[in-house]
Amino acid sequence: MTGPFALTFAALFGAVIGSFLNVCIHRLPRGTSIVWPASACPACGRPLSWFENIPIASYLFLRGRCRTCGAPISARYLVIEALTAAMFAVAWWYYGPGPMLISRLIFGCALIVLFAIDLEHHLLPNVITLTGIVIGFLLSFTTDQPGWRSSLIGIVAGGGVLFLIAEIYYRVRHEEGLGMGDVKMLAMMGAFLGWPLAILSLMIASVAGTIIGIGLIITRRGTMKYALPFGTFLAIGAAVSAAAGPAILRWYFGLW
Ligand SMILES: [Zn+2]
Repeated sequence: MTGPFALTFAALFGAVIGSFLNVCIHRLPRGTSIVWPASACPACGRPLSWFENIPIASYLFLRGRCRTCGAPISARYLVIEALTAAMFAVAWWYYGPGPMLISRLIFGCALIVLFAIDLEHHLLPNVITLTGIVIGFLLSFTTDQPGWRSSLIGIVAGGGVLFLIAEIYYRVRHEEGLGMGDVKMLAMMGAFLGWPLAILSLMIASVAGTIIGIGLIITRRGTMKYALPFGTFLAIGAAVSAAAGPAILRWYFGLW
C-alpha cells in the first residue's frame, strides 16, 4: 500500500485538496462563498479555464502570471498545493489507511488554512476553529490516539490555559495580547492531539515566537508586540507535535 503508485496518487489527491485550501484561504477572510463562483484572477476578474486550475502544474506553466492581464499570482498558491501534496503522501506512508490518517489529514488541512489566514489577515476564522473542535472530538472516538478523554481534557485545558494567559495579560497590560481566536485554536489542537501534545504545542509555539520575535527586534524589523500573529506559531507547534510529539515527550521525561 505504500508503493510508488499509491504514494503518487496520495500526493496528486493532496495537490487537489491544496487547491481547495487556497480557495478557503482567499475567500474565508473576505466572507465570500467557498463553492461559488469558480476561481477567477484576483486582478482582472477573468474566470479561470480548466487548464489554469490544475494544481501546481498551472502555476509553473503560467510562470506565476495571469494569462490575460499579466498580474503576478501569489507564490502562496504553489506553496500551499505542494505542501498539501507532500503532507498527504507522508501521512499515507506513515499511518496507512484508517481513521488516524483521516484525523491527521483533516487536522493538517485546518492548520494550513489557519496559518495562512492568520499570517496575512491576523484572523482565525471560527468556521475552522470551532468546527475543528467538534470534528476533532468526534474523531477521537474512532482512534487510539488521543482517545476521547484526552481529547475532551485537551479542549478544556488547551482553551482554558490560553484564556487564562490572555486574561492575565489584559489585566496587567490593559491591552489585548492574545485574541479569542488563539484560545479557540488551541482548544481545537487539544481536540485532535489530546492534552499532553496540545500543551507541548503551546510550549513549542511560545519558544519559536520568542526566538523569532527577538530576531526581528535585533534586525530592527519590528517590535516584539507586532512580530507575527501567534496563530502561525501555534500551527507550527501543532505540526511538530503531531509529527514528533510522543518522541519529544519521551526524550524530555527521559532526562529526569
Ligand atoms: Zn488577470
